Amino acid sequence: MESDTEQKRCLQNIPSVWTVLNGAVLSLELMIAITKVLENVYVLKDRAGCCANLVVGKEKALLFDTGSGIDNLRETLESITELPLLVLNSHGHFDHIGGNCQFERVYLPKQDFSILESYDTETLNRWLRELTRDSLWPFLASPREWKCIRPLEFDSFDLGQMACRIIPLKGHTAGSVGIWIPSLKLLLSGDALTPVMCLNFQNHLSAKIQYETLKQIQNLEFDWYLTSHHETLFEKSLTKRMMKCIENSAGKKFQFYQYPQPPYAKGWIYLDSLGEEPVALILSEEEKRTAQTMNVLDKERTDGNTEQ
Ligand SMILES: [Zn+2]
Repeated sequence: MESDTEQKRCLQNIPSVWTVLNGAVLSLELMIAITKVLENVYVLKDRAGCCANLVVGKEKALLFDTGSGIDNLRETLESITELPLLVLNSHGHFDHIGGNCQFERVYLPKQDFSILESYDTETLNRWLRELTRDSLWPFLASPREWKCIRPLEFDSFDLGQMACRIIPLKGHTAGSVGIWIPSLKLLLSGDALTPVMCLNFQNHLSAKIQYETLKQIQNLEFDWYLTSHHETLFEKSLTKRMMKCIENSAGKKFQFYQYPQPPYAKGWIYLDSLGEEPVALILSEEEKRTAQTMNVLDKERTDGNTEQ
C-alpha cells in the first residue's frame, strides 16, 4: 500500500506526456524518444539522454533501468505494452535508477546499494536541472528512502518463450549486471560495456576486473549488445577492441579528464582507437597511481592467456 502512495506522489511531480490547454488534451508530447531496435526490443531515451531498455515477451515485459527520473517512463511504457512488468536496474548510478519510484518494485544488485546512501534530493534535482535545463524538481525523497527498491536475488527469469539470464558485469561498478537473452542473441549491458570504459565513477572497480569481465563474456553467445547511453545496437566484436584497449594502455600516457556532465567525476583517459566507435579507458586517480593493473595484464599477456 505504501509503495502505491510512493508511486502516486512520484508521478504527480512529473508532467504527463499529454499537453493540456483549457482542459482539452492537445497532443502527445514525446519527451521520451522511442527507438525499436529489434522485434520486441525498444530503447526509451529520456530528456537527460539516459536510455532504458524494454523487452516484450509473450507473458511479461522487462524494463532494464529507469533513466534519470525526469520523464514519465511509466506512461510511455504503457503506450507500448500492457503486459505485467519486471523492472531491474543494471547498477546503482543516479541516471539508471531515477525513475524507480514510478514502479511498484524494482530490483537492484545488492553490491550497489551503498551508492544510494550518497544521494540527497537537492543534489539529484540540481543535476537533473543541469542535464535538461528544465526547472523541475522531480526528486521528492532520496532513493535510499524509496520502498520500491529490492535487492536482486535471482539469476534468471522468463518473459514467456523468452528465457533471460542475469550476467555479472563487474567493473563500471561492483554490482553491475547485464541481461543475456539467448533467443535474441542479445545482451543488455547498462554502462558495463560502454566502449569508453568509465572506471572513475562511484563504486567502480579496477581495469583488471573490467578486463576479466570482457574476457568472460567472449564465451557468451550473443551477436549484439545495448548500452544505456546509446540508442543503437553494438556488435559483440567491439568488446574485443575494448580488451585490446586495456592491454595497449599498459605503460601509455593518460590525459587528465573530467566528465563534462553530472556527476562531474575526474579521472585519467587513454584513447586507444577511433573507428566507428571510439574505444577508451578512464581510470580513477588512485588506480592510475598504483598502475598495478598494467603489471598484472603485462604478465598475463606474456603468459599468452589473453589469446583466444
Ligand atoms: Zn553508471
